[in-house]
Amino acid sequence: MHRILIIEDERDIADLIGFNLQRAGYEVIKANDGIEGTDVALRERPDLILLDLMLPGRDGYAVFRELRRDPRTANTPVIMLTARAQTEDRIQGLEAGADDYLTKPFSPKELVLRVQAVLKRFNTSPGNVDFTHGPFRFDKNALKFYLDSEPTELTSIEFKLLLFLCERAGKAQDRNDLHCTVWGYSDATHSRTLDTHMKRLRQKLGPHGSWVETVRGIGYSVAKADA
Ligand code: CA
Repeated sequence: MHRILIIEDERDIADLIGFNLQRAGYEVIKANDGIEGTDVALRERPDLILLDLMLPGRDGYAVFRELRRDPRTANTPVIMLTARAQTEDRIQGLEAGADDYLTKPFSPKELVLRVQAVLKRFNTSPGNVDFTHGPFRFDKNALKFYLDSEPTELTSIEFKLLLFLCERAGKAQDRNDLHCTVWGYSDATHSRTLDTHMKRLRQKLGPHGSWVETVRGIGYSVAKADA
């Protein structure tokens, strides 16, 4: 059973979310503020975190940065929750590396669907957990990445983008397909953040960043490895 941590100071919202997630078959843990939320996340290592951004003690972005810095939670999927519907907030959240973003008020049904979608993207089929392409090696089970056999830290989004491109090497991948792979669906916000993620990914790949090519008018591709 997947365990989900809800970091949310508004009790009625936390209760509503918790009730619906439990009904959908998830185990739920709750924290009421940013500091407690960080502690519980590091201690309990949940499978997914729902993170409210407006929190007393430590705001959601600060919590998020701390969780990403710690190896225990660096790869834990995070869905941000916020009352702020502004596009810039969505972009800030997604660029920071959140796996998804929900604006209040959201329907409990939508929340459960998003949780399911994110967890599904993180689950890999057993038996085929390792994938190698050129200087890149992906451990799909542990979500670990190796560059020239050296462990290299990628965010979950960078990992998913690069793996998707490598598995389809030599073929340009459409921006919409890339959005759907990473976020499970596509909207205008993703289009603006995709390029930011790709840019950071290339920087992390150093000289091997040239494997990732921009295909004008379409999206991105990764070069074929030499046979
Ligand atoms: Ca709040």
